[in-house]
Amino acid sequence: MQELIARYEQMGISRKVFEYGEATIKNLTDRFAEIDSIAEYNQAKVLSAMQKNRVSAVCFAATTGYGYDDVGRDNLEKVYADVFHTEAALVRPQITCGTHALTVALSANLLPGDELLSPVGLPYDTLQEVIGIRPSPCSLAEYGVSYRQVDLLTDGSFDYDGIRNAISEKTKLITIQRSKGYATRPTFSVSQIGELIAFCKSVKPDVLVMVDNCYGEFVETIEPSDVGADMTVGSLIKNPGGGLAPIGGYICGTQECVSRCAYRLSAPGLGQEVGANLGIMTALYQGFFLAPTVVAGAEKGAIFAANLYEPLGFHCVPNATESRHDIIQAVELGSEEAMIAFCKGIQAAAPVDSYVDPLPWEMPGYNDKVIMAAGAFVQGSSIELSADGPIRPPYAVYFQGGLTWLHAKTGILMSLQKLLDAGLVQL
Ligand SMILES: *Cc1c(COP(=O)(O)O)cnc(C)c1O
Repeated sequence: MQELIARYEQMGISRKVFEYGEATIKNLTDRFAEIDSIAEYNQAKVLSAMQKNRVSAVCFAATTGYGYDDVGRDNLEKVYADVFHTEAALVRPQITCGTHALTVALSANLLPGDELLSPVGLPYDTLQEVIGIRPSPCSLAEYGVSYRQVDLLTDGSFDYDGIRNAISEKTKLITIQRSKGYATRPTFSVSQIGELIAFCKSVKPDVLVMVDNCYGEFVETIEPSDVGADMTVGSLIKNPGGGLAPIGGYICGTQECVSRCAYRLSAPGLGQEVGANLGIMTALYQGFFLAPTVVAGAEKGAIFAANLYEPLGFHCVPNATESRHDIIQAVELGSEEAMIAFCKGIQAAAPVDSYVDPLPWEMPGYNDKVIMAAGAFVQGSSIELSADGPIRPPYAVYFQGGLTWLHAKTGILMSLQKLLDAGLVQL
């Protein structure tokens, strides 16, 4: 233990912060065991899907050009479809990020005159331009797709009456965001999402439902596709890439929806048949294989952060004790200064770019200045230890990731150290 304390001190983490951390961890044994048991279930689920689809060295071969008959790519899509229990999946390096995957899913399945409904309030920042809530070239609004929104009730629950009234003849697709994103509402559990989907389909049986699953994969034993979502969508540089995927997005869903997505992504008539894998299949398979454990480590980090910061007077969402449905931890720090100190700590603890000082900047797709701390092997990867947040009240940082629990722990201790050094908190 003395050796460890000395090691941390060399890195700039004081004995005081370390010992406060150890006292916090002592109380988390049961919760960590629960997370491990979910990870074990999900590990078995992924393993079974890989075995069933006879993953072999052939699947890791690079393809170039059109990518016709790309066995590795096609088989990975079967593996994803089996894990998500869907008819089909589109898992591609040509999907550049989560926003792109969601854009493909929406624009492939909405036609001029159709209406999109969000029954869970304002969607994630980047989607606001995709939809045209904030006017933007090539938005869905420009293509004649209208948008309606029903906000959550003040207690965070679904406004069922409002949703019933908002669903009309025109409502073609309903978008549900699982994770809180940059909001301070709670993240929905998969079963809550299931109730909402069932309600929407009882009002309009043929309505399509898409779930933005970013940051939610493998946190529970079921996914939105298990409770009626027609499309479940996310990014490979978040949970399902397991930290190894260098790029990519996925859409798992019904054959009809996924085929349309493929036609939108490539071209009508081409669909899933084209798209070379450029030699990244090993990373996509292996990352998916590691994802359940990586997600578990990240979730432990999030719980640790809440239990560390809440007793110091910072409002945490989720709070120190409530159940979790994604890997994000919001900590409301109350000032820009404190956000910068926190992010400096995360950055200083990174394996890559640890010498860089994060500063707020005008990031494309976001309305407010954003600060981001990430010293990641994959640029912008937020399954790796990272913290970010828009510079606006309540000055919340959204902390997530950590390829290992122990690295997440180091980063969080370092963030607290920076707040302490800046005189913004007392231990
Ligand atoms: C990250 C995220 C997105 C967008 O993903 P990018 O890969 O950053 O484009 C969309 N929705 C939610 C809830 C997210 O967390």
